[in-house]
Amino acid sequence: MSLPWTFDNRYVQALPGDRSADLRSRQTPEVLWSLAPPTPVSGPRLLAWSEAMARTLGLSPEALSQPALLQALSGNELLPGMIPYAMRYGGHQFGNWAGQLGDGRVINLGEVSVQGQRWELQLKGAGPTAYSRGADGRAVLRSSLREFLCAEAMFHLGVPTTRSLSLVATGDEVLRDMLYDGNPAYEPGAIVCRVAPSFIRFGHFEILAARGEATLLEQLIDFCIARDYPELVEAFPEGEDRRAAWFKTICERTAIMVAHWMRVGFVHGVMNTDNMSILGLTLDYGPYGWIDNFDPRWTPNTTDRAQRRYRFGRQPEIAYWNLGCLATALESCFSDREALKAGLSHYAAVFAETQQAFTVAKFGFAALDACEAELMERAYRLMSQAEVDMTLFFRALADLDPQQPEVATLRPAFYSESEYAQHHGAWLRWLNDYVAQLPQDPAALAQLRTRMQAHNPIYVLRNYLAQEAIEAAEAGDFSKLQRLQRVLQQPYTVQPDAADLAAKRPDWARQKPGCSMLSCSS
Ligand code: AMP
Ligand code: MG
Repeated sequence: MSLPWTFDNRYVQALPGDRSADLRSRQTPEVLWSLAPPTPVSGPRLLAWSEAMARTLGLSPEALSQPALLQALSGNELLPGMIPYAMRYGGHQFGNWAGQLGDGRVINLGEVSVQGQRWELQLKGAGPTAYSRGADGRAVLRSSLREFLCAEAMFHLGVPTTRSLSLVATGDEVLRDMLYDGNPAYEPGAIVCRVAPSFIRFGHFEILAARGEATLLEQLIDFCIARDYPELVEAFPEGEDRRAAWFKTICERTAIMVAHWMRVGFVHGVMNTDNMSILGLTLDYGPYGWIDNFDPRWTPNTTDRAQRRYRFGRQPEIAYWNLGCLATALESCFSDREALKAGLSHYAAVFAETQQAFTVAKFGFAALDACEAELMERAYRLMSQAEVDMTLFFRALADLDPQQPEVATLRPAFYSESEYAQHHGAWLRWLNDYVAQLPQDPAALAQLRTRMQAHNPIYVLRNYLAQEAIEAAEAGDFSKLQRLQRVLQQPYTVQPDAADLAAKRPDWARQKPGCSMLSCSS
């Protein structure tokens, strides 16, 4: 049986690259990619795949059992038409310019179009490339499983994201110092096949601007618009207006993505500009995490523990800062800088508007006037004071009896009995003020509730759930991974056999590595 894919690989066809296939780490001036044949692995085994993604790519379950596909998804063989390449990009890491980075452990296999939609396929962890900077180009099972699961979970939550097709064990071991404490250990290796319409990052443009490669910068802008934003080519005649619309749309998509993160309680953890997608997709799932008890200061990333640059509550501001870096990189290609400024203002406006719409929906308000805004702020303040679980709180709120509001309805969301008792009075006052804002009409109320349930997930990939699935998988048991995959496909729908997956974080997971603390080691 043949696979339904025809590769056209526009990125490598249209843009200059280094075709030497030299995998030694190096600077690669004047090119946008370098040929990078994957390094074979000893014992590839398909551990999991996303049915939804496979379907979208036109793959039947039978196609997934073809040996040639497994070989391709493990980097052992290429399918006809695939060209393996690593992309060159730079980036600002933790606020500082870091120079050339690039796909150090990602190898793109090519671009396919399925039913009019273009997809770029790439393997994460398939061996070194010119951009590995001395590292091994591999990925461990724990981080691969986290990325594989979370990207698909985000997709089903309605958050713009890159996707995952497959998770393959390599059969080889990888040496990692997980806690950066001088105790490296061997861990099982794995490879995720990631999929997105484009993996171009802000850093692609930044490296060209930083190195003064002006012609290439112009070329990449035009390529990105033509391939990734074809609607702008139709809507605008060539020239400045089209570029202005392009930057504005990038800002808009980024704003919508971050508003979604805030809605579902997702913390990216490493919002460096090399991890920012030109399509406003959540990209590079590393030490990410989910908010359990509501805390805007929380970050899962131990590498960022001191500064907390990428903490939950700061993500909207950081995205703006990152867009500012992109604007600076693009400046030389815009005669009118006002267009870039207008794009950045558009980010702020779209973020505010989207965040407001989500807030209204999450709380079940009819609008967000001064009174509701005050209620919202008071709720968030109370939630952070009394350790209240964000996900459980919003679902419980929809269960409230507006005739007789009781704090007990919210009780499952509290982490501490004593805090519950201590803050009971403040919450009761809040609930009474809250129900006073709700409509009396039962039909209107029911409508608001339905909207609440569509914006407040029940099931998110809580950090400890991912960790439990990892520990089981490392012991050869994939049932937890499969169960999470299944339940997270319908995150807004009550699933009777999955109550445990909607429970709050158990106490043992509060400080455990992998559950609340993650490093960049992956
Ligand atoms: P990240 O922090 O995962 O976004 O990675 C930052 C940069 O380091 C990217 O250019 C990655 O490709 C590269 N990188 C991270 N881990 C490895 C690895 N094990 N081997 C090669 N490159 C890596
Ligand atoms: Mg990255």
